[in-house]
Amino acid sequence: RLPHRLVSSVQFRFAVTFTILVAILLALMNTYPTRASRDIVFTEKQSALTNRAAVVSSSLSLLDNLTPDNTRQVLALLDLRDLTRIIVTDSEGLAVYDSASENNIRGKYVLYPELVRALDGQAVFYSHYTTGAFLSRAAMPVMNSGQTVGAVYVCESDSERAALIGNIQRRLATITIGIGAAALVVLWFSIKMLTRRITQLADGVRTVQSGDYSFRLTLSGHDELTELGQEFNNLTERLETTEAQRRRFVSDASHELKTPLASIRLLSDSISQSADMDSTTMREFVADIGSEAERLQRTTEKLLDLSRRDDGVQPDVTIVDLQQAVHGTLHLLRPLADRSSVTITCLMSEGVTVRASEDDIYHIVFNLVENAIRYSPEYTTVSVSVSLCKDPSSMTIRVIDQGIGIPSASLDRVFERFYRVDPARSRATGGSGLGLAITKHCVQECGGTISVWSREGEGSTFTIELPVAPEPDDDDGERADDGEAPGETVGAPGAGDAATQE
Ligand code: ADP
Repeated sequence: RLPHRLVSSVQFRFAVTFTILVAILLALMNTYPTRASRDIVFTEKQSALTNRAAVVSSSLSLLDNLTPDNTRQVLALLDLRDLTRIIVTDSEGLAVYDSASENNIRGKYVLYPELVRALDGQAVFYSHYTTGAFLSRAAMPVMNSGQTVGAVYVCESDSERAALIGNIQRRLATITIGIGAAALVVLWFSIKMLTRRITQLADGVRTVQSGDYSFRLTLSGHDELTELGQEFNNLTERLETTEAQRRRFVSDASHELKTPLASIRLLSDSISQSADMDSTTMREFVADIGSEAERLQRTTEKLLDLSRRDDGVQPDVTIVDLQQAVHGTLHLLRPLADRSSVTITCLMSEGVTVRASEDDIYHIVFNLVENAIRYSPEYTTVSVSVSLCKDPSSMTIRVIDQGIGIPSASLDRVFERFYRVDPARSRATGGSGLGLAITKHCVQECGGTISVWSREGEGSTFTIELPVAPEPDDDDGERADDGEAPGETVGAPGAGDAATQE
């Protein structure tokens, strides 16, 4: 019994189908031509032998009565050498003539079915092919004045045509063996080629499965298997990129979590090991532990937020009024701006709405304005503006600061997770390196784009473009474009004119 694996394999099925098809073709090729030529010979024999019997019958029909003598005399006048045997009976079925030298039946009643039917008035023909010869028989009544006076039975054996057909058959058999052998060779090569490439693919899948994401297939040809190989390579490339990102993320995340944990550990060890620590120092240490724990909490919250977004959790989308949302967020940042002596100015077009999650809008504005405050020196201004674009189907949020700026080499990387231009400064100001990555995610979720312009020592401008929520009676956009919307100042007194800066 064949093992189940082999029977269900592609190569086995392919081989079986191919073999069955070739076998059917060869069988048809072997049988059809010989059958057709035999049929042609039978038809030809039927007309020839029936004619011969008719000639004999009509010659005898001149006689009133069939007797051995008059029958022999009539038949002697005819050329019947090519016939194997001739039997003539009278109307009773008694053989009056038999050309056979052996087993001669003259004088006996003949009960050959052909003769019986001929005596019944029918013309009969029968032929069959045996190895080496066509044996044909024909029988015909002998009529005289409308009466059956006897019957003629003629028999012929043709070995010449049979030899010709036998010859064709042998040639066909030789050709069949040749074609069969060629088909087997073709089958063997096709299976080898097919399985070699399938095995290559399967090996590739196994290699990637074992963790080698750098593996790429090199498949020859231009067929479906090559296409599959190409798709496999694309998939592996994506896997490799994702895996590299994952590793970097895990290592960065653990590094981020390790630093505050190490500080907490150090501070708590210092407290527990020094017996004579004064209460002021102890309070300072405990406060430090508290701020490190707070940093840990902030980082883990942002990590969780990012991982939720990576999982594709869809936020609740509503129509968000940007004026309200930005005002609310800036209000939360006011204490930070006050502490850093930074002025926030705000210029907003009324009634600009977007279809987005309120959380996303909060994250976008909060992260950008918080960064602008944190990376700006004292007594500078951070300007926030919300306006409709020239194309009224989209709007812009712009956050401009006069801070330290970002080096041009780092501009492309600031949206990467855990990327910081100056890690020490970022940590010192409570940064996690995740703010802009989350902001970019939020912007993309809202269907918008984010870009940054910056020059070191001059400041940075973050620009976000979002599609406006469709509102039929919205005519506030015109006001925004006119630049006549009222400016608002939040933060330290003495800030610059929001309108002029805008
Ligand atoms: P962080 O929490 O460190 O601020 P972000 O993802 O928010 O992380 O920002 C990434 C880095 O981009 C920051 O570490 C900082 O170097 C730089 N950056 C972001 N915003 C500003 C800005 N307004 N001015 C100067 N540098 C900035």
